[in-house]
Amino acid sequence: MEIKEREIIDKHRERAKGSFSSLQKFVVDQKSCNYCGCCVSACPTDVLAMGDESPQLIGECNECGICYLACPRTFLPMTQIQEWLFKTDVIPPLGSYIRAALASSTSRKILDRAPDGGITTTVFTYLLQNKLVDAVITTGKQHDGAWCYHPRPMIVTDPADLLEAMDRKYDPNPLLSVLKEAARFKKVAFAGLPCHVLGLSKLRYAAHAYEEILPALYKTARKLTSNIDFVVGIGCMCRMGKGTWDVMLREQGVKSEKEVKRHYEERITGDYVFFLEGGGEARVGHRRIINNPHPMCFLCSDYDGYFSDTTVDRSEYQEYSTVLIRNKKGENIFNQCLEKGLVTTRDLPDEGRDFLESMTPVLQSLVDFDAYGYEQYLKVGSFLTESTIRDMMGHFENRRLRGIPENIFLELLKKYPQFEFAKKKRKELGYENPDIY
Ligand code: SF4
Ligand code: SF4
Ligand code: SF4
Repeated sequence: MEIKEREIIDKHRERAKGSFSSLQKFVVDQKSCNYCGCCVSACPTDVLAMGDESPQLIGECNECGICYLACPRTFLPMTQIQEWLFKTDVIPPLGSYIRAALASSTSRKILDRAPDGGITTTVFTYLLQNKLVDAVITTGKQHDGAWCYHPRPMIVTDPADLLEAMDRKYDPNPLLSVLKEAARFKKVAFAGLPCHVLGLSKLRYAAHAYEEILPALYKTARKLTSNIDFVVGIGCMCRMGKGTWDVMLREQGVKSEKEVKRHYEERITGDYVFFLEGGGEARVGHRRIINNPHPMCFLCSDYDGYFSDTTVDRSEYQEYSTVLIRNKKGENIFNQCLEKGLVTTRDLPDEGRDFLESMTPVLQSLVDFDAYGYEQYLKVGSFLTESTIRDMMGHFENRRLRGIPENIFLELLKKYPQFEFAKKKRKELGYENPDIY
């Protein structure tokens, strides 16, 4: 173990002695908690539960410090995890991958519900139906009705229940809080946002590397993750604060989500269009949506599920998802679905790889734009870089640059350089930053 890594872990081992109060002080009070739920599953005495915005102590803490050590917002060995999984310490802008594709489910039933190509649902249905996994951890919805954006963690054993997981849901979701409950299954597939995948990956790395240096975390991590067999990362730009969609819909005259029959995201504008039960439609603009990021997202170090087996993201083509296959396991499962005719693909121009590599200096040069946007957010609660990026993209044909559409740009340009600036600003304001190394 390198000296720097050991020093960081030593520092956090000391802090963890403060028990749950350390997690409260260094993560929750610093507005860093990403509501992943990891601490809830990690607590050996089950005295943590997720409250509305963060974990709450509901019993007597035995001061083991495991919740603090397991939390991805205290320290996160990104480089070590990358090296362990991909044999390189460099994380490219989209993470390491061996194949990129535009893919779509061949099931009309799935496509009719899916915001994009329905790939995650199709693959998980295949895995469950063929008993290749016993259960799936994914994001369900809290309310019945055609559309619900209030998420809940869900363990699925019946493929029919996967349809519930299909809509995008924008409120924070403590997905990792069900890891302990899912430990009773032998083989589990997992789909979550990049911050969920980061929390899961920290635990999986702890189960691989921390036997000597953090033995209690090592044992807990083994119990929670040794059955995780396949991980899908869902691309994500930001979440919103709880209840923000209620406010945005009300602004458009929609009293409740129950009035929504169906919705879709327009590919170029990024606006959301809602078809209403009583006829007519409402529209929430992309600018309105991205101006409401949750503070937790300003310390996000991944937008694409770097440490998943496969990442599934939106694409600019209706009924297609962008799929990044990161390793042999991901490729094997994807190929099985292709051979059985469950998914279909179309060409992805130049696979995006050359383009992304050539974009690195451009991304770096955009720090100033993001710095401005983040500063505005801190001052007035509004994130303003979008217009700059849209202006820039307006110079290119079809708002695409070498095959990469504007919406992928938006995610890259805003997230990738923003992190360092967010850390700096938070430091100036006296907020603790997680150790990411
Ligand atoms: S018992 Fe351990 S894991 Fe649970 S809240 Fe206390 S310090 Fe955290
Ligand atoms: S980031 Fe996750 S593990 Fe850390 S305090 Fe929040 S919910 Fe718990
Ligand atoms: S932007 Fe990052 S922290 Fe925020 S919800 Fe998405 S993956 Fe999680």
